[in-house]
Amino acid sequence: MKHLPALIAVFTAALSLTLPAHASLVVLQYHHVDDSTPAVTSISPDIFKQHMELLESEGMTVLDLYEATRKVLSGEPIPERAVAITFDDAYRSIYTQALPQLKQRGWPFTVFVSTAAVDQKFPDIMSWDELRELQKAGGRLANHTVSHAHLLDTPADTDQESYWQQEILSAEQRLEEEAGVTDRLFAYPYGEYSLALADWLKNEGFLAFGQQSGPTGQLSHPQILPRFPASGAYADTGSLITKLHSLPFSIAPREVADPVLRNNPPELALEITGDDFSVKQIRCYSGGELTDITEISASRIRIQAQTPILMRRGRYNCTAPSLSQPGRFYWYSQLWVDPSQPEP
Ligand SMILES: [Zn+2]
Repeated sequence: MKHLPALIAVFTAALSLTLPAHASLVVLQYHHVDDSTPAVTSISPDIFKQHMELLESEGMTVLDLYEATRKVLSGEPIPERAVAITFDDAYRSIYTQALPQLKQRGWPFTVFVSTAAVDQKFPDIMSWDELRELQKAGGRLANHTVSHAHLLDTPADTDQESYWQQEILSAEQRLEEEAGVTDRLFAYPYGEYSLALADWLKNEGFLAFGQQSGPTGQLSHPQILPRFPASGAYADTGSLITKLHSLPFSIAPREVADPVLRNNPPELALEITGDDFSVKQIRCYSGGELTDITEISASRIRIQAQTPILMRRGRYNCTAPSLSQPGRFYWYSQLWVDPSQPEP
């Protein structure tokens, strides 16, 4: 035990190393690419085309999600201004509207599939044949559970782990049977996770993405990876530019808070390292309102909103301007979820 203080000192020193700017990946999340589907999860084909043109004009390099994420997490270099494109739920409009845009540019993309909707041949969901066609065109298929489940709401007739096995491992098995997928790449339905679920996914060897915003950096939690929702209210091309050029705050995985609400408004303590921003310039928002930030030390802050989170899901989003690269912002988002509330 006498070596413990020394070990902690080494660990802290390792965390405060300044990370190279290239070790960063922005991931965009879409659902429908369609004018006639629910606005909150849709982007019109015209605006989607504008997004793709923006990626070109901003000089972004579009990378495969799985390979780029693994590289960033292990500290291997990837091109600067790197972005990955993802779609959740396997809607048919991805095949009819997004695929031609992506194919024309030769860009990779990932589709997170809820397998029961494909097996049951839902009319607005792609078939296994169409999904296999996407794979041939540079698409990667990944796991989004069997039934698009609320994974924090365990049904009364089962236990938590059996539920997760049945929803996640059975979906992985269907993806392997139908499309040869063995990557163990996962996205949480509704972006809802808990630390217990993230731990379970880690033990099962999955990388897992949420819907909390921010870019991925080397210190991102491999089972709580961020994505920028880019549909509905988030489809605006002006704010998309800021997101494309965002930078990851260096927050150690051990600092990640459990999103399951215990106190409301929740308190979040973060230890943020790095010398390219001023702690005093960090701003955090909850539901559009600025939150209180208490500075505890040069790198440790405590955040609490004034008003409680009233919906099933809420987020604290924190940004700070880069000192060396004007116009670029460090970005971190924390999900909060109250499983006792119904889905809105
Ligand atoms: Zn989904």
